[in-house]
Amino acid sequence: MSISRVGVIGAGLMGNGIAHAALLAGLEVTLVDMFEAALPKAVATMTKNMERQVTRGALAAQDSADALARLTTSTDYASLTGAELVIEAAPEREAVKAAIYKALEPVIGPEVILASNTSSISITRLGALSGRADRFIGMHFFNPVPMMRLVEIIRGIATSEETYATACALAKKLGKTIATAEDSPSFIVNRILCPMVNEAIFVLHEGTGTVASIDAGMKLGANHPMGPLELADFVGLDTLLEVMRVMHAGLGEDKYRPCPLLVKYVDAGWFGRKSGRGFYDYSVTPPRPTL
Ligand code: NAD
Repeated sequence: MSISRVGVIGAGLMGNGIAHAALLAGLEVTLVDMFEAALPKAVATMTKNMERQVTRGALAAQDSADALARLTTSTDYASLTGAELVIEAAPEREAVKAAIYKALEPVIGPEVILASNTSSISITRLGALSGRADRFIGMHFFNPVPMMRLVEIIRGIATSEETYATACALAKKLGKTIATAEDSPSFIVNRILCPMVNEAIFVLHEGTGTVASIDAGMKLGANHPMGPLELADFVGLDTLLEVMRVMHAGLGEDKYRPCPLLVKYVDAGWFGRKSGRGFYDYSVTPPRPTL
């Protein structure tokens, strides 16, 4: 099945990136968020990011205007009627996702494929909660979506071959490379990456290094393009904490225990870039380490 109309739920960091990539691939996109204010913010971000692509010569101004004209935004799930595939990019909490799937049941037809962008939650369990386990799949995009070339595609135990083939075709249409992962907590990339970032926070917490020395160490010593604490702020500390909690609970090993300093930052509302403060203070240019 070839997809031409998609719905995206959640207009945050990932939802707006997924909508951006889908619009530029020629798809009609309906973007839904329960918070009215999130929608103009997402459209402004997409517009600014497309303008940047136009300035760089990577996109024609007319193509950007045409792409934005294919976008509809709404706070009402009923606006998703007509979408052939819906990608959920709501916060990384199972109860939130479950409530969304329940609300979707009466508005999207039984044939519609539902994909979750979850970073870590079991696709098999979310599929069962969705009431359409055979048409449920994980499509895990990476931030920033328009730039990052990978999509992990994760089948739940009941996902049909047709659903898998459709999701793969959509990912390719969006210009992405696919890594197929088995349904295990955090799949492939985050299973490897997040414990490394969590370990960097332990190193900070124990006073072994400062924010600056840890990030410089991993950039220059391991040739990583971003330091792990810079990366944590970029991903969102709330999201990182949820991923670690899911891995800790799902894999049952202490090596996945979230660092107490990460918990404290999230408790303080210091979520990283999106809240203006995390391991760096983003109210100044360049951002200043906070420890
Ligand atoms: P975010 O907090 O930036 O955005 C979430 C959005 O969902 C917000 O705009 C919020 O208003 C909206 N929302 C909350 N409840 C809703 C509801 N009931 N209905 C509709 N919208 C609702 O989060 P994010 O970083 O974009 O993460 C979204 C998902 O993508 C999570 O599952 C996360 O694990 C996954 N993910 C995140 C990253 C990353 O780097 N941040 C990467 C890959 C996958």
